[in-house]
Amino acid sequence: MTSTTADLAAITGIDVPTGLFIGGEWTKGRSGGLIGVTDPATGEIIAEVADGTAEDALDAVGAAHAALPGWAATPPRERGECLRRAWALMMERSEAIARLMVLENGKALPDARGEATYSAEFFRWYAEEAVRLEGALMTAPSGANRILVQRQPVGVSVLITPWNFPAAMATRKIGPALAAGCTVVLKPAKETPLTALVVADILREAGVPDGVVNVVTTSSASRFSGAVLGDPRVRKLSFTGSTEVGRVLLKAAADQVINCSMELGGNAPFLIFEDADIKAALDGAFVAKMRNGGEACTAANRFYVHEAVADEFTSAFAARLAALKVGPGLEEGTELGPLVNEDTRSKVASLVDEAVAAGSKVVTGGAVPDRPGYFYEPTVLDHVPSGAGILHEEIFGPVAPIVRFTDEADAVRWANDTEYGLVSYVYTSDLRRSLRVAEALEAGMIGINRGVVSDPAAPFGGVKQSGLGREGGHDGLLEFTETKYIAVEW
Ligand code: NAP
Repeated sequence: MTSTTADLAAITGIDVPTGLFIGGEWTKGRSGGLIGVTDPATGEIIAEVADGTAEDALDAVGAAHAALPGWAATPPRERGECLRRAWALMMERSEAIARLMVLENGKALPDARGEATYSAEFFRWYAEEAVRLEGALMTAPSGANRILVQRQPVGVSVLITPWNFPAAMATRKIGPALAAGCTVVLKPAKETPLTALVVADILREAGVPDGVVNVVTTSSASRFSGAVLGDPRVRKLSFTGSTEVGRVLLKAAADQVINCSMELGGNAPFLIFEDADIKAALDGAFVAKMRNGGEACTAANRFYVHEAVADEFTSAFAARLAALKVGPGLEEGTELGPLVNEDTRSKVASLVDEAVAAGSKVVTGGAVPDRPGYFYEPTVLDHVPSGAGILHEEIFGPVAPIVRFTDEADAVRWANDTEYGLVSYVYTSDLRRSLRVAEALEAGMIGINRGVVSDPAAPFGGVKQSGLGREGGHDGLLEFTETKYIAVEW
């Protein structure tokens, strides 16, 4: 079933598959049921995809298991060349992929174009990494034998991805898994299944053998995970999503002692010191807050601004957000699209309402605009009290709460006052302070005078309850391997 709605093909210029992809075949799945995909800018259904059952999920595991020995034995260079071709195809179709992401996720086209290129880059990076899986050889301290260490593919890998980066979260997992010699079953978020299906079709076209990549879309994520995590053929779970669901999956993976990588939620602090270059801090704050409309795990969630520069920063930042063109993502000039669904918008609205009731001052925005779709006004809140929920929960929307500080130690303490530890941002022109503060911040990633940290070549991931393991860089490849130690006497 590679049929698609005519509208989608007309808007994107490509055929968008809507079936399950199992063992190299597009299928309707065992139930023949369908899930509607909604355009968040209008609230209307734009396509229907197959609703995979538990049996479909196990069929996909079976296909991945059957393809594993052949793919693991495929020369690394050939595995890399498949990924390299997939990168080229994604770049060739990047505008179509970007438009499709706007339709199913709502993000503005410039954000979607950025993601299309960024997501393709994971295939190019891991095409290059596929041939760099090193081992080690050493003499045992006793001198009696040699210690030989080899990296082998971990095996059939289940990949579960969120809706906020429909292409990049898939390629960031598929790239290293395939480079390491693993086969995969991907379950994309039900809000954004179409992009994942296009990525799978590109991998097929790039020459990835049948069964190496499988995709199961489903209306019941727990039915899917219940089936696959109970199957002993599955050896790896790589999950990106909320900390809440991550905890549930870690518990479920414990029964079969499945190797887990977890990319979970964030609550990024953004620190601006009195000696910062304020123009640079405004640019950095803008991208850290507004990339993807604030729906990013790396989004600046709390701004700690030194009292001496707080008025200047706050008024300039509010003016910049208030000037944004808000509208459907594909409309000419749109800079901020809708949120992905009503639940996400209501959460944003209630966090703002609660912060205002607690004494925060609305500098701009603060309301749901009167229009169809799941829009929320770009918002800046000043003087947010320390107990407000908005400082402790992931906002996932275009809202910037500002807290003023005078003392570096307070700023660092408040920044660390969270169970999350994904990323933190620091703006200062004092080199010693930047490194001192970076060392003290409890986060897996730090941006110093920079509002974006994501890079396919860098190890992305969090500490505390933001996750386990890393994606991207060489570390991302190692997550899909097991270490084998061979004791040799010669
Ligand atoms: P989510 O609700 O945790 O869902 C993520 C994925 O998990 C979706 O595919 C979802 O399927 C699935 N899922 C939900 N419950 C499940 C269950 N019981 N068993 C198996 N799968 C289950 O997160 P989201 O709302 O899509 O995404 C936003 C979250 O992702 C934020 O917390 C954000 O910080 C985090 N995130 C983290 C990173 C990172 O790299 N650290 C990157 C991006 C996003 P359904 O769609 O069917 O519910």
